[in-house]
Amino acid sequence: PPPVAPPAVAQPAFEPGTEVVLAGVAAAPGLAIGQAVRLVQRAFEFPEAGDGAAVEQPKLLGAVRAAQDALRATLQADPAKDSAAHAILTAHLAFLEDPDLFARAAVLVGEGKSAGFAWHAAMQEQIVLLRGLGDERLAARANDLLDVERRVNAVLAGEQDEAAPLPQDAVLFAEDLLPSQLAGVDIGRIAGICTAGGGPTSHVAILAASMGIPALVAIGADALRVPDGAPVIVNADEATVHVFPALALARQAREAAQVRRDRADDNRAAAQEEARTADGVRIEVVANLGKADDVQAALENGAEGCGLLRSEFLFLNRAAAPTEDEQAAQYQAIASGLAGRPLIIRTLDAGADKALPYLDVPKEENPQLGVRGLRLGLARPELLRTQLRAILRVQPVGQCRIMLPMVTELAELQQARAMLEEEKASLGFAGTVALGIMIEVPAAALLSEPLAAEADFFSIGTNDLTQYVLAMDRLNPALARQMDALHPAVLRLIAKTVEGARWHGRWVGVCGGLASVPLAVPVLIGLGVTELSAAAAAVPHVKAMVRTLTMKDCVAAAREALRQTSAQAVRAGLAQRWPNA
Ligand code: PEP
Ligand code: MG
Repeated sequence: PPPVAPPAVAQPAFEPGTEVVLAGVAAAPGLAIGQAVRLVQRAFEFPEAGDGAAVEQPKLLGAVRAAQDALRATLQADPAKDSAAHAILTAHLAFLEDPDLFARAAVLVGEGKSAGFAWHAAMQEQIVLLRGLGDERLAARANDLLDVERRVNAVLAGEQDEAAPLPQDAVLFAEDLLPSQLAGVDIGRIAGICTAGGGPTSHVAILAASMGIPALVAIGADALRVPDGAPVIVNADEATVHVFPALALARQAREAAQVRRDRADDNRAAAQEEARTADGVRIEVVANLGKADDVQAALENGAEGCGLLRSEFLFLNRAAAPTEDEQAAQYQAIASGLAGRPLIIRTLDAGADKALPYLDVPKEENPQLGVRGLRLGLARPELLRTQLRAILRVQPVGQCRIMLPMVTELAELQQARAMLEEEKASLGFAGTVALGIMIEVPAAALLSEPLAAEADFFSIGTNDLTQYVLAMDRLNPALARQMDALHPAVLRLIAKTVEGARWHGRWVGVCGGLASVPLAVPVLIGLGVTELSAAAAAVPHVKAMVRTLTMKDCVAAAREALRQTSAQAVRAGLAQRWPNA
């Protein structure tokens, strides 16, 4: 499908009586039935000239403080302190507490501008600056600033408490959705989210997924033609939204949604039981973690350990790299939280979408193809050595395994292993520690046999493997619909990876997004994968899927998938065989 472009003229609203089907990109899974609620961003208008600095300065300060207080109250009341939504709001609070941002607005107030005008102008300066840098991550920060601007201006305009009450089962329709637009709304009443813009990695996607609300993004301008109160069905699994659905379809969807809710409840009730196929083959289902705060939710969801600790989260949002002691304390906290369960720590995977300013890496034309992952670790050996030492210090010895990201060449693995041996010797570390690698570069999948001779295990990163084999930037929303890890080209590389691993008796896991997709589970198991590292919330559903399968079914599903020529064909075949996945 072509990229979504805004239309030249505003189109009329859809009329009752005619069913309309819109397509988008799924940002959070599920099925929702409800009524449309349009969220229109109010434009705040402030006069340029103020009533003098003596009046406007305290007004500005008061509004910024009120916005801070409101955010702090929201953060305090949030039960999910480790959620992505929490992290976004925490970042917004940090902006509001930034004296430089405030100072810029204060200067304008000193020049006679009104508080609202000055705040708007100061924030717009920053936003334009960030957007102009041509970097997607910085552009996303511009959206954060836009949100921060709105929070203060809403206070200045006296609108902070005016969020309209939502009907039960509200499906929100918006151009894009800013976290501040959700402030004051009753989240429990939101059944679904649909946006004209956005991408699967945008804030609205992260927020929806962390709240468990089905969401479609990148629908295009037609999303804004859905009138308030229109009955709608959001099917994130098919990436469609039906507006004014036929009565029979609505009834069917309502029943299907209830069945899903019941099944999800059953899966969660059985989450602590281990996962074995119906014919008794044990599949380890573990969770992807970012920090110590994630451990509890993972265990509650039945994770049997951690298959991927994205250690870069320890390195983000700071002025310098964490010291060996800081890292050791963090890894120890996570290991202790997991109470003896296995913990796979991936060494720093900085670069590309996870740039760290203090590393001072030269700007790259194509950072996804640049000095990232293990390449950076080898170019900056002091970084990697510090991290290896911190991991080696975790007690008990043997709970932690080490995993290297973005391995392309056997020589890279050999260099990293030599470093590990040297650090072990320098610490007098006598035990053994498993050293595995991520398979996420096509070259590594194709050379899996020689790599398996020297790596203790493999974990397949389907996010990067898909982006590299399909030549599609994983951050580009225009390609989101095609970037599907169930593409047979990706599956053939997974098959190749397992084949190489078998020569040397190594186990193969999957820690990319595909491991969280129940429909993909039979194919992955059929291809020979024995460990699945999923998002915590997906663990109960992945385990439940495993229990319904036999190895014979899995092998047949894998064979059939490998013969297909498109991801759609693979999905269609699987959906036919497992309609409830
Ligand atoms: C992957 O690429 O699939 C992966 C698990 O690593 P990340 O998403 O952190 O790049
Ligand atoms: Mg990766």
